[in-house]
Amino acid sequence: MTTIASRLQNVKNRIIEAAKKAGRDPESVQLLAASKTNTPDKLREAWEAGQTVFGENYLQEGLVKIRALSDLPIEWHFIGPIQSNKTKLIAENFSWVHGIDREKIATRLSAARPESLPPLQVCVQVNVSGEITKSGVDPEKAAELAAFVSEQPRLQLRGIMAVPELTAVTALQREQFQMMREVYEQLQQQGFNLDTLSMGMSEDLENAIAEGATMVRIGTAIFGPRRYAIPEELGSRQ
Ligand SMILES: *Cc1c(COP(=O)(O)O)cnc(C)c1O
Repeated sequence: MTTIASRLQNVKNRIIEAAKKAGRDPESVQLLAASKTNTPDKLREAWEAGQTVFGENYLQEGLVKIRALSDLPIEWHFIGPIQSNKTKLIAENFSWVHGIDREKIATRLSAARPESLPPLQVCVQVNVSGEITKSGVDPEKAAELAAFVSEQPRLQLRGIMAVPELTAVTALQREQFQMMREVYEQLQQQGFNLDTLSMGMSEDLENAIAEGATMVRIGTAIFGPRRYAIPEELGSRQ
């Protein structure tokens, strides 16, 4: 049986290879473990293998794990779509939020971020696949939203994130990552102080790193295939 520790090592090796191939420092790519549907025990196993940064997609499920693993100084990222009635608990319980796609969400997260905590570290989500079902702002609107986010007192804008359309055609996939790199560089040229380009998952981390990803979000390749139904102990997806 493949253990989480060995899968994790395999992912790290892939990151190192991809970075070297792109002429980049492997240290410039951070690994976020996308842990949705996995039980706290699995996350603990990953922690014991050296993983300290985890991303969750669903609030209730994430809160169960944050509570169960409160003895570990994990850095929790919220990487799922954000409903406005969830902003308070997200702002109170996570260090990072990747999917800011509208002003209302930014305003609410900032207002709810407790003074006792550092500013919430955030990314603006950009839609580079043009799919109606995917959230994220159009690339042309990214600067406007980035400016708005930057003005929020309790948010610190770190970069942009994307969940590109999965396509079997490598060239198309690469195009989406390329578009992200362009948006990222344009924002930097406009004076935004960014250090995070959040893109790349289990299937496509090599292409993402080739196009400059600084944070890859990896689930399946670390934890194994996801079960369709989430374990009862993790609660409902509300
Ligand atoms: C599930 C998920 C991932 C990881 O996907 P894998 O293909 O399992 O690596 C990354 N980002 C987001 C936003 C996700 O929901």
